[in-house]
Amino acid sequence: MLTECAWCRNTINVEDSPSSNGICTSCLVDVGGIEHTDVSSFPRSFIDALPLGAIVLANDDTIISYNLAESEITGMAPDTVEGKNFFVDVAPCTAVRAFQGVVEKMRNAGKDSQESIEFTFNHQRFKCYVSILFTYYAQADYTIINVKQLEGTAL
Ligand SMILES: [Zn+2]
Repeated sequence: MLTECAWCRNTINVEDSPSSNGICTSCLVDVGGIEHTDVSSFPRSFIDALPLGAIVLANDDTIISYNLAESEITGMAPDTVEGKNFFVDVAPCTAVRAFQGVVEKMRNAGKDSQESIEFTFNHQRFKCYVSILFTYYAQADYTIINVKQLEGTAL
């Protein structure tokens, strides 16, 4: 089965690296070549070096990590949003079926999965059109939201 790396979006074959949890070999090498099963153990320097926006959400929608690339898209510094509820406190425009609904559906299915959508962030401070890749890890019960900006910038 082909899928996309949750971090860099390179295409990967799940059968080739079944224990990588949807993260490609080169990204795993960047975090020390260890087969990480817990994103919260990834070094901050690695998460901040990712080329695309990445938000890691706990099962209660709390932001575990919010990387620099995402911060550049939204203008919100990681330390001002980490620990907050993503849908309530940080990005209320995503609390809709087309976005939050997808995350909840993946959690409810209870197995590792990926979904992608195109979405317009419509925040009071910015508006931009993005491609979103959701990767859900059932065992750890968290979701990586990978954000690729298509159009628009922070105001
Ligand atoms: Zn990768």
